[in-house]
Amino acid sequence: MDEYKPTNSPDYIPGLKKVRSRRLFLWLVIIVYLPAMMLALDSPDYKTWVAVVFVTWLVLLIVAVAFACLVRCPRCGNCFHTHGPTFLPFRRCLHCSLHVNADKRAPEEHSPQARFPDQETDD
Ligand SMILES: [Zn+2]
Repeated sequence: MDEYKPTNSPDYIPGLKKVRSRRLFLWLVIIVYLPAMMLALDSPDYKTWVAVVFVTWLVLLIVAVAFACLVRCPRCGNCFHTHGPTFLPFRRCLHCSLHVNADKRAPEEHSPQARFPDQETDD
């Protein structure tokens, strides 16, 4: 069995804020694509503006995904959204299952099973 780790420690607040801000940046970049492209297509010089909007959006998307991939879980210290080469922007840590809003929720008596628990915890 794993040792008990609290789910709502005040030590997690700065780390969870960082995780939430990077998730927000990623979703904003994804959402802004359609309105930006519609504006570019309505412009008189649309061929140039579509290329500018697409290249800018692609660079922002790469940066946002890289930031979201590299953010660390404040409880276990592993990458919050990444397990090996796989990027999964779920609301729980892929390693210890800490919720992204754990500092705003009631403490969980038993942490749910992590989706991809680390293999090294056998006793
Ligand atoms: Zn974790």
